[in-house]
Amino acid sequence: MSTPAAQLKQAACAAIDAAAPQLTAFGEDIFRHPEPGYQEQRTGGKVAEAFRRLGLVQITRPALTGVKGWLPTAGDGVSLAVIGELDAVLSPQHPCADPVTGAAHACGHHAQLAAMLGAAVGLRAVASQLDGRLCFLAAPAEEYIQIGYRSGLQQAGKLRYLGGKQQLIAEGAFDDIDMAMMVHSETDAPGAHVVVNGPAGGFIGKTLRFIGKEAHAGGAPWLGINALNAASLAIQAINAQRETFRDCDAVRVHPIITKGGDLVNTVPADVRMESYVRAANVEAMQDANGKVNRAARGAAWAIGARVEIQDLPGYLPLAQNETMSRLFAQNAQKLMPGARVDSGLPFCGSTDMGDLSYLMPVIQPTVSGFAGALHSKDFHVTDPALAYLVPAKLMAMTAIDLLGDAAARARAVRDAAPRRTAAQYGRLWEEILAGGQ
Ligand SMILES: [Zn+2]
Ligand SMILES: [Zn+2]
Repeated sequence: MSTPAAQLKQAACAAIDAAAPQLTAFGEDIFRHPEPGYQEQRTGGKVAEAFRRLGLVQITRPALTGVKGWLPTAGDGVSLAVIGELDAVLSPQHPCADPVTGAAHACGHHAQLAAMLGAAVGLRAVASQLDGRLCFLAAPAEEYIQIGYRSGLQQAGKLRYLGGKQQLIAEGAFDDIDMAMMVHSETDAPGAHVVVNGPAGGFIGKTLRFIGKEAHAGGAPWLGINALNAASLAIQAINAQRETFRDCDAVRVHPIITKGGDLVNTVPADVRMESYVRAANVEAMQDANGKVNRAARGAAWAIGARVEIQDLPGYLPLAQNETMSRLFAQNAQKLMPGARVDSGLPFCGSTDMGDLSYLMPVIQPTVSGFAGALHSKDFHVTDPALAYLVPAKLMAMTAIDLLGDAAARARAVRDAAPRRTAAQYGRLWEEILAGGQ
């Protein structure tokens, strides 16, 4: 007869509590050594070392800096991945920012790694009672930043996609996974707060290059073609589209000019812009992207300039699995009877867990324990137990619900959702981007 789930959960949480000093120290060490996406050499090395110490097997290093390992369990059927993210954002004013790169853990990914390792500690204690397979996966480059640097890696043939989980999908790192879970930080909540089953929008990434003609800006500007005027007219034309975006689609277009010209006394002939075109669903992403491209082309035509537009696979909207979300919420209520547990509040921004949610059932609940705006210099941990240990316990407890009792729940979750392949994923992005041309 198998051990009741409540007893297994208690044993897993006790193991996590016993390792609390090491888990907290691990999170704090990563916080002090932030690295941006696809450059997480030290962070990935520390995770790989921890995986080996925990006795994980078949450790591999996918997607340049990722780390994947398996916890030996009793079963070999349905497989569940526990994910943590390796990368930092750029926030040069952050007190723990890297002085050279400006990277800082202002999105709480350092805490995700401690939580993922904590879940492994807890589940190792009960592994002989679990059916199915347990994978632990540290994913690189969740933040969609440094587009120029990553495009260089792409051109060198090292990457197919700019986002870490996208690249893991393309490399087949999720081919042997049936479902996945991770926890993201939530900031500035009063006390313990958990949000499950929140949606997140997707986006198309974009670079624009306006090409004009150089001339002396004082002596003979009439001989030039001003690419900066074309770019600023493009921004105005995009703004003139905003009333056509439906409220329910939550469209966000927020271009920046990354290069405005070369010399102040030369008519700008090479002006660069980057943007995301975000929306709550793929159709609205495509619709808004078509309008943005039309606005850019129209503005370039009006000035006599040219524009080169590069549309890039951004992230897909996030759809979380309801059964897994419910289990996670029940465990949160059990573990922290005084905590507020909400369902369905939207997650600000976008995430490549959205792309994974197209392939398989996933959850990405948020747990409080942090203060200061996300991605800002003020972001920090306020409650180490909430930030590092509670997510570890909740993921371990939810994994026990899924893989205990002969993995009956995990199989039901897997069989209820259509499983899509990496090839289908690649084709979807080709279709989405073809619509904007
Ligand atoms: Zn972030
Ligand atoms: Zn994040």
